[in-house]
Amino acid sequence: MSYRIGVISGDGIGPEIVAEAKKVLDCISRTYGHTFEYEEILMGGCSIDATGVPLTDEAIAQALGCDAVLMGSIGGNTATSPWYKLEPHLRPEAGLLKLRKSLNLFANLRPAYLYEELKEACPLRDDIIGDGFDMMIMRELTGGLYFGARNTKEQDGVLTATDTLTYNENEIRRIAVRGFDIAMKRRKKVTSVDKANVLDSSRLWRKVVEEVAADYPEVTYEHMLVDNCAMQLVKDPKQFDVILTENMFGDILSDEASMVTGSIGMLSSASLNDTRFGLYEPSGGSAPDIAGRGIANPIATVLSAAMMLRYSFDLDSEADAIEAAVKQVLKDGYRTIDIMPQETGRRAAVTQVGTAQMGDLIAERIKKP
Ligand code: NAD
Repeated sequence: MSYRIGVISGDGIGPEIVAEAKKVLDCISRTYGHTFEYEEILMGGCSIDATGVPLTDEAIAQALGCDAVLMGSIGGNTATSPWYKLEPHLRPEAGLLKLRKSLNLFANLRPAYLYEELKEACPLRDDIIGDGFDMMIMRELTGGLYFGARNTKEQDGVLTATDTLTYNENEIRRIAVRGFDIAMKRRKKVTSVDKANVLDSSRLWRKVVEEVAADYPEVTYEHMLVDNCAMQLVKDPKQFDVILTENMFGDILSDEASMVTGSIGMLSSASLNDTRFGLYEPSGGSAPDIAGRGIANPIATVLSAAMMLRYSFDLDSEADAIEAAVKQVLKDGYRTIDIMPQETGRRAAVTQVGTAQMGDLIAERIKKP
């Protein structure tokens, strides 16, 4: 099959880590006989330098013409870069927000997976970690409290701020369907997180999720209150497969879940709309402190490319092959600087490698079962 992939290399370490993801994708294309065509798209600081704005209409049209977009990261040093002297709507991050909005990317997926070899980076106790955990946080991204009407005004001489949390049943249904579809590709369990004991929007959320669940008899589902979920994530993370939740709860819970896995350089993400299209990117930023030194960890970007194969192209075996190759590289003792063990004795047992070498090592381990 042939796929057109938009590539936003972006700023800082972006071009370095994207190059390694492309290296791994090219290896997949050779091994499995697919064709991946890449279309470079300008966004972020590099677009400001070239065009004066962080994302042009042409760039949006380019993205829309692709089957999916793979991104590195955008932005610079917010204290020193001239990009941050511009008006907020002209800064690098405004390009990303505009792209998400233009492409209607309402479903955000962030896996939280603990690799056996990186267990020591997990702040939880050994008895809680057990054999590790593997969950997917599915967050609604374009509705709820962050998009509702808001104002601050004086009422009876007292300054009063109001934010509104609105969801309609269609917005809930489309993310719930995505969540259950994704559970079908995993261990077939959905935990829907809400605050239905207090909020009307959560009661509607619960009702619609139950309707959607009826169409997925193979998926086990449960409802959990958000305060309980925050506790369960550190008490017993193994219980979760897909966590399905609204925008603000997902914002907080996905950061909590990713913290318990260790390094930011390992965390992939996807943002999907209601077609097969998706934007795939590492969870970290452009890391200006290490840009250009060839030491950034490309694994989150490589794993984001695997998510693209799985969720936009339905190439599950190929995505499995990339994930298996990453596990094997870690098992074989290779680490980028950010995931090196802290303890001297353990450092001696592994080999530190740079960005390009890590990409080569992963590509070498791609195998067709
Ligand atoms: P950051 O994620 O770029 O860096 C935080 C720390 O993590 C740094 O020490 C960095 O060296 C390290 N790090 C991040 N990714 C790494 C990797 N792949 N390998 C090894 N180490 C890695 O966050 P920041 O410093 O707060 O932000 C820097 C710039 O990135 C800012 O302009 C910010 O707005 C932007 N940003 C962009 C995105 C995005 O493109 N989606 C996301 C977050 C931040």
